[in-house]
Amino acid sequence: MQRSCRFAAAHHQFIVHLCHGAQLTLYRPLMTDTALMPIPGQIDPVPVARDITPREDGRVDLIGLPKLRIAELFAQAGLDPKQAKLRAKQVFHWLYHRGVTSFDAMTDIAKTMRPWLSERFVIGRPDVVEAQHSTDGTRKWLLRTADGHDFEMVFIPDADRGTLCVSSQVGCTLNCRFCHTGTMRLVRNLTPGEIVGQVMLARDALGEWPKGRMDFAEAEGADADEEETAEYTADGRLLTNIVMMGMGEPLYNFDNVRDALKLVMDGDGLALSKRRITLSTSGVVPMMERCGEEIGVNLAVSLHAVNKEIRDEIVPLNRKYGIEQLLEACAAYPRASNARRITFEYVMLKDRNDSDADARELVRLIKHYKLPAKVNLIPFNPWPGAPYECSTPERVRRFSEIVFEGGISAPVRTPRGRDIDAACGQLKTAAEKKTRAELDRLAEEKQAALG
Ligand code: SAH
Ligand code: SF4
Repeated sequence: MQRSCRFAAAHHQFIVHLCHGAQLTLYRPLMTDTALMPIPGQIDPVPVARDITPREDGRVDLIGLPKLRIAELFAQAGLDPKQAKLRAKQVFHWLYHRGVTSFDAMTDIAKTMRPWLSERFVIGRPDVVEAQHSTDGTRKWLLRTADGHDFEMVFIPDADRGTLCVSSQVGCTLNCRFCHTGTMRLVRNLTPGEIVGQVMLARDALGEWPKGRMDFAEAEGADADEEETAEYTADGRLLTNIVMMGMGEPLYNFDNVRDALKLVMDGDGLALSKRRITLSTSGVVPMMERCGEEIGVNLAVSLHAVNKEIRDEIVPLNRKYGIEQLLEACAAYPRASNARRITFEYVMLKDRNDSDADARELVRLIKHYKLPAKVNLIPFNPWPGAPYECSTPERVRRFSEIVFEGGISAPVRTPRGRDIDAACGQLKTAAEKKTRAELDRLAEEKQAALG
């Protein structure tokens, strides 16, 4: 407990050396207390972050809130219920459908009403600390929460789609041995606003908010002449898909991930189809059914090994929820079908999980549990100090062939954004890269400097 508090304090106050040589000064006052309250457990103590302390200026951030909650807040602030409902509908549309970042831009809301809103509410976005571009077109953003925690999001453009890889936590409690994020301690869960905020930031960066006229029959006092003239068009977007495959285990932050994805899927909100959203889990079995029922997105499962010994080693959560239990939960995943197959992710680790026998066992398991499944083979992305190597290209090809011959699709995923550390498993915020000793030393220096 004390260690994590000291860590958080140190993390807030010092110069951070990014992997690309740049320096960031992270000295900012702690506005909130997000110290962790660990819940004891053997494999996965799930630290629950304390609630975010309200903003110092007393205003409420509307991003991350559903329409009903916005209406409640407007009513609490003094609007009569009918007005509150109408204003919430308008504001919701401006926030999530049009992506405005100021109440002044809400041109169908009476001019006198706009300062009333901005005195009480804010429209938050995570801060962008750094944006990087890979030679292959992949983009990575280092983002920061209002209380000073850094996390990352990645955009991967392809010929026929653009995929945003979204983070659900700062760090991760699960220490998968091949994953760089797993070497960070969990700082805290991201809030619904910080999760949906990533999608909104990506739309900002890609210039993908629709422009044009909005019609609210009941709107009063609107400044029609302030409205832009271009017609709304939703076609031709770059951002077409979302994968919950950034930092963190989304099913250990279930409520916030669900609430954020509901906003992403809301037809009046960001309006992305659930068929275009995939949530990846390392195998949090007890939450999988709820994921299917309450979110309904596609499921990806980080399987990575076909026997207990190896999976226990590389995905320690396996000691708690074993392969059989995991595959049974996959077989029961709501609405999984041949049209909506479960993706099994399989990271290719040299001499650990990449033999012909492993490939054949993978086919056997998928058939035994009658799973509508496809397999994604992920060449291991290296990071400094990683205890594994990637399988050879010939081995990966052979493994893929065996699974294909077994009647299961097993494409090899091309690593993207490796040059900017944006590929799977390479995400780890620079602030966390310091060793414990370095952080302690910096904390002492800072203390001394403050007198
Ligand atoms: N926590 C979730 C989602 C984030 S990780 C999960 O584990 O599924 C997204 C994917 O990247 C997972 O399949 C993960 O196993 C994989 N991954 C992690 N580290 C990797 C690495 N170094 N190389 C390749 N893939 C990696
Ligand atoms: Fe966490 Fe997923 Fe990395 Fe495992 S692979 S440590 S669950 S982010």
